[in-house]
Amino acid sequence: MIKRILVTGGAGFLGSHLCDRLVRAGQDVICLDNFFTSQKSNIEHLLDCHNFELIRHDVTHPIFLEVDEVYNLACPASPPHYQYNPIKTIKTSVLGAINVLGLTKRVNAKVLHASTSEVYGDPTVHPQPESYRGNVNPIGPRACYDEGKRAAETLMFDYHRQNGVNIRVVRIFNTYGPRMHPYDGRVVSNFILQALADKDITIYGDGQQTRSFCFVDDLIDGFLKMMGAPDEFTGPVNLGNPGEFTIRELAEHVIELTGSSSKIVKVRELPEDDPLQRQPDITLAREKLDWEPHIQLKEGLAKTIEWFQSVDLSKFRAPTPNL
Ligand code: NAD
Ligand code: UDP
Repeated sequence: MIKRILVTGGAGFLGSHLCDRLVRAGQDVICLDNFFTSQKSNIEHLLDCHNFELIRHDVTHPIFLEVDEVYNLACPASPPHYQYNPIKTIKTSVLGAINVLGLTKRVNAKVLHASTSEVYGDPTVHPQPESYRGNVNPIGPRACYDEGKRAAETLMFDYHRQNGVNIRVVRIFNTYGPRMHPYDGRVVSNFILQALADKDITIYGDGQQTRSFCFVDDLIDGFLKMMGAPDEFTGPVNLGNPGEFTIRELAEHVIELTGSSSKIVKVRELPEDDPLQRQPDITLAREKLDWEPHIQLKEGLAKTIEWFQSVDLSKFRAPTPNL
């Protein structure tokens, strides 16, 4: 049966890939976005599809739509962007969740919420299972995002317990791939653009901090499996690739794959509250969703590099002056 599906943040990096998959599957897709950190080019190939509709709207304001499922992705995800207007960031997470949950409750829809590994903060447990409650600084520069996402999880579970709303919460670990905004400021896009221009690769701190990088196609498989999971399984469930790399190793891979003459340079100390390590424990996703990522870092980086080589950078506007 064809479902009416709302994707908030649908023009963004992850949202546009999700819209692609849903449109291709024949669903009736509504993409909602305020284009803060994205632009129409991510979804312009869908605009002529009969089963795709675009709404420019800000999730901090209520919206009334008749849908069967909602994927709630609207929120800036890159530290320079979410720190540009931190009050707006936390409003987007919290008011956005309240508005999406209100809509979901009214029309009796299912909602999948895009949470984050940032709920674990700078983790003292490694790798991070869902049962770990995290080590987040509630008043630091990342708090607008981390605490906003934590409060949104709270809202999901309170609407579920109090009103029986059908929820699914996924905690996404660093994901990369084609359509990351070139001026996004996240590590993968920064390093690729720098390498392609033979500019210095900008490492923050000593580069020994780690991240686990998931290719976007694997992650979207996880979203779809989670939305299709039995209603009892609310999550939260970690979605990410357990392969863990230091930021310096990532820089070396990017240099090798681009054949660049760039040098790796420490340009600043580690930003305040920047997590030192991050690796998902995906036992639960394996058990409950039969999901695990298949695309290894070098393969995914090669696809991402190819995309960055193909785009005209002059067509992108930097979302904020914070880089
Ligand atoms: P993105 O910045 O490319 O996409 C976010 C989208 O939300 C953009 O299109 C932006 O314009 C839109 N948006 C922002 N504020 C909005 C508002 N108030 N109203 C309507 N639209 C708004 O980032 P992404 O990587 O695609 O992230 C998507 C979601 O996944 C976010 O919620 C993010 O927190 C979460 N996430 C992503 C990652 C990752 O590594 N990519 C990791 C953890 C969590
Ligand atoms: N980083 C870096 N150089 C850059 C951008 C980021 O060394 O040009 C580091 C950053 O300090 C962090 C890691 O790379 O330790 C991942 O940063 P990103 O902003 O991609 O995401 P985060 O996981 O911190 O939210």
